[in-house]
This record gives sequence, structure tokens and C-alpha cells, in this order.
Amino acid sequence: MLSNSLIELDRAHLIHPVASYHGHEASGVRVLTSAKGATVTDATGHQLVDGFAGLWCVNAGYGQDSIVAAATRQMRELPYATGYFSLGSEPAIRLAAELADRAPGDLNHVYFTLGGSDAVDSTVRFIRYYWHALGKPERDQFISLQSGYHGSSTVGAGLTALPAFHAGFGVPFTWQHTIPSHYVYRNPAGPDDRAIIATSIAALETKIAEIGGLERCAAFYAEPIQGSGGVLVPPTGWMKAIRDFCKARGILFVADEVITGFGRTGPLFACTEEDIVPDFMTVAKGLTSGYVPMGAVLMSDHVYNTIADGAGASAVGHGYTYSAHPVSAAVGLEVLRLYENGLLENGVKAGARLMAGLRSLKDHPLVGDVRGRGMLAALELVVDKERKTPLPAAADPSRRIFDRAWSNGLVIRAFPTGVLGYAPPLCCTDADIDAILDRTQMTLDQTLADPDVREAMRSRAR
Ligand code: PLP
Repeated sequence: MLSNSLIELDRAHLIHPVASYHGHEASGVRVLTSAKGATVTDATGHQLVDGFAGLWCVNAGYGQDSIVAAATRQMRELPYATGYFSLGSEPAIRLAAELADRAPGDLNHVYFTLGGSDAVDSTVRFIRYYWHALGKPERDQFISLQSGYHGSSTVGAGLTALPAFHAGFGVPFTWQHTIPSHYVYRNPAGPDDRAIIATSIAALETKIAEIGGLERCAAFYAEPIQGSGGVLVPPTGWMKAIRDFCKARGILFVADEVITGFGRTGPLFACTEEDIVPDFMTVAKGLTSGYVPMGAVLMSDHVYNTIADGAGASAVGHGYTYSAHPVSAAVGLEVLRLYENGLLENGVKAGARLMAGLRSLKDHPLVGDVRGRGMLAALELVVDKERKTPLPAAADPSRRIFDRAWSNGLVIRAFPTGVLGYAPPLCCTDADIDAILDRTQMTLDQTLADPDVREAMRSRAR
């Protein structure tokens, strides 16, 4: 009764992110009611292993009482403090210091946001300000990677290079450009790491020339692993090579660690895996493990000093009411403590089990590619392994496979391209990981039995 009326209320009033509005009205909402560890329960009592940690964010897992206690304590003591007028709160100051302490190199300055999109959006404002401060306002062209995701703000959606975020929205802007993704599985340069890196560097050189040379180029954006583009893992050394290329040419380099940060790939920040010190790093999601909203921009010394000197006695006009929110910061501090008191370590162990299990599915007739690092992984399904032919669109992978996994007690991300994405909480037990793998196998076998999938496989073979 309750859940039926909720479904109707949702249909009538709640707009869902990145959804077909009519499609959602037809399918109706699935209401989640509780969660513990890596398990979520829906309004019908169905229990599922959350193989996607909400939206790759609940890294600490559900039901962590100490996080709830930290938020409660902070709400009682001081539920809000602005950062305007040189005011502040202890948890925000401490969290900024703890992040700076752990972040690579001289990323010593932290601007807190409400999530990842406004963190990316803030970098665009800071970068423009930086180049103005240096007397080079013409360095106003931004480059990102195809299949990249950098959020859904008006400006960030143009750095995002996924068609659904552009169509009908008038982005990208003319100053936003892309180069092809490294997408190893389908890279025209073949699977060789060095060839892929060389191809990306060449593409960047060409793009810079196209937009008027280095004197026009403001910044380059990349995720250490492209998440929403289908969990695309670059070759080892790719990120470092691009970072070095940018550094040598004075192009600001933004590492978007909104998904990869906070243990998702193993360490606290994926950039440390290749010893990269970007000029900016954006984080969110695992920063508060999804318990409350928060994101951050980490800014290097030289960028901070240039902006500060450029502004002099004037205010740098960028701010949000909820920047450095004390409750979010208190949660961030407790989440960080949990990561460093066993969760990161458990994530590495669970990630190895997940990756080994997914790799063992490589022989399944539908699995074309297995990729990932730590607790961030994907299977790419195909109907012809040699030709890498995707599942037929008629098989509607994002809906059918998601629904099927759901019925099997598993939450995954099912991309329309037939990629299955995994980002489980770092607290997963061996049994949780095994359940993810068993239920994936079941879902794959059921999909293999679909008449339209079988037909597509047969017609490829002919
Ligand atoms: N950047 C990356 C790499 C992301 O994956 C996301 C979200 O998934 C964002 C930015 C945007 O973050 P949010 O959804 O918190 O605004």
C-alpha cells in the first residue's frame, strides 16, 4: 500500500537524474528502504548486494554508526557555519588540512563544493581567473577526452563528452574540445600500451594546433579511469605521459578523481599510482562516502598563489552558501578515519578477489573484455569476440540486464553499450564479492539464452 502510493507520488512529482521521463513514468520507481554493509533492501523486502555502491560513492558501505554519530554530534554543536566573511568551522579546516596532507605533491589548498559537478565547474572558474591573473586571458580553450565524464553543470557538461549530456542542451561550447579516449579494447592503434600513449599525445598536439596553439590552451581534463564512459582503464603510463606533456607546455592539468578517489582503485588517490601531481584534483563521492553531499577542488601552490596575487586586495568572486559545510566536513573526517583504519586495506583485498573472479568470466561466450583496477571494474559484452560486435541495441542492455541482475539480487551499472560496471563498497566481505560474481554469472547465462542475443550471435557466425 505504502509503496504503491509512493510509486504514484514519485511518478507525479519527482524528476529523476539522467532518465527518460516517460520511460520512468512507465517503469515506476524502485524504492530502497534500508541498507547495511554492502546489502540494500527495497520496499518489497528484496535484498541485493550493491555492486555499485549507490552511484560509485558509498565506499565505506552502509550503516557505519560512527559516521552517523559524527554527523549527529556536529549537527547538535554547530549545524552550519559560512566560510564567507573569513568565518569558518573546525571540521572544515581540519578536513582541508587532512586532505592536503595526503594529496600528492603541493595540492595544498582546498575549496569545498557540494559534489563533483560543481567541483569541476569551480576549476573552470579558477583556471580562467588564473590565466587572467597572468595577463593571458586568451588562454581560454579547454580540452578533455571523449567518453569522459566531468559532471552535469552547464559548463562541466561540455567537458563531459557523452552524447546524452549534450543533446538538446547546447553544449559543448565552442571553447570546449575533445581528443579520442584511450579505450584500449577498441583503440584503432591496437592494444599496445606505447602505441596508444603515442596516439593520444599526437591527438593532443593536433588539437592544440587546431585551436590556435599553446597560447590559446588553458587546461586539459582527465579521469585516472574513465568511469561513466564505461570504466575505461588507460594503459599504464598513459596518465603520467599526458601529465608530463601538459607540464612541459604550461597547460594546466586537472585530474578528476570524483570516482577514483578514496580507495576506489586501491590507494586514497589514483594519481599516486603513477606519481602524478596535477595542478588541480577534483574529488567528491567517497569524500563523504555518500552519507551527505560534499566535493572538493584541491589546488596546487602555484595556482593558488597566482590567483591570490592576481586578486590582491579584491575578493575572488567564487563562493557557495554550503561550501565547507561543517556537517559534511565532520562526516568527511570520520570517513577518512575509517578508510585508514582498515577499509582501504579491505578494499584492496576485495578488489583482488573481484578482479580475479571477473577475469575468470572471460571465457563466457558474451564477455569480450574484462577491465578494472581495485574495486572499479567492467565487463564488456559482445556477440562476436573476434569482431567485438556489441550486443544488439534491441537487446536494450541498460534496462534488461539491469532488471535481470536486480531480480538475481545484484545491483550493477548496466551501460547501454552492453558494458557492466562494478564499484562495490570497500567493506565487502569475501561472501559479498562471491555473491556479486555468482549473480553476474547467472545474469550472463540468462542473457545468453535471450532469443535476440542468440540470433545476433548466429548471424555473426554466418
Ligand atoms: N566527475 C566525475 C569523474 C564523475 O564521475 C562525476 C559523477 O559521477 C562527476 C564529476 C560529477 O559529480 P556529481 O554527480 O557529484 O555532481
